[in-house]
Amino acid sequence: MGEKPILMSTENVKAILQGRKNDKKVYTNHGNENDLRHILKRIIYSVTISDFEKCWEWKRFINKDGYGTFTLNKKSRLVHRVMYFLFHGEFDNNLSVCHKWDNPKCVNPNHLFLGTRSDNMKDCFNKGRSNIKVVSFKGETNPMSKITRFQAMKIRKMAQSGEVTQRTIADYFGISQAHVSLIKLGKLWK
Ligand SMILES: [Zn+2]
Repeated sequence: MGEKPILMSTENVKAILQGRKNDKKVYTNHGNENDLRHILKRIIYSVTISDFEKCWEWKRFINKDGYGTFTLNKKSRLVHRVMYFLFHGEFDNNLSVCHKWDNPKCVNPNHLFLGTRSDNMKDCFNKGRSNIKVVSFKGETNPMSKITRFQAMKIRKMAQSGEVTQRTIADYFGISQAHVSLIKLGKLWK
């Protein structure tokens, strides 16, 4: 049987951040693009990490769908998919890599999970609900207690679809049902 692939871990990220303290410049050296540590270093130099538990937001190019991209072996890649691969190993290319906290710029490997092959937000949404205890993340401890415009758009679509209750959406996003209702009606976040 083949060797177990070497996966990246929080320790690798910490080592890179340590080195970065004395090296503030953007790391654009393409170097050996098959070396996982090297790829991770390129990514970590392009994110903001204020807290390991919170979102690691991509600071460089963001595509029209809100996802970070970068060039790897001359191809444009979605950073969150590369991060999932680095930390969790190979996965079926037909699967979506979804964001638990609905922040598409985030590349924190612990905020990512595999969804169904379609990029359909409802699939990711439902899978996310079954995978995580969202209700324990209300209020202050919620990593995304302030929703973004992008999230508001999703909330409106979900609420208008009628396929999930406003209560469910509210719990998922850590906001009140009244807040969901206002977003749905376009009274907040037009
Ligand atoms: Zn995140």
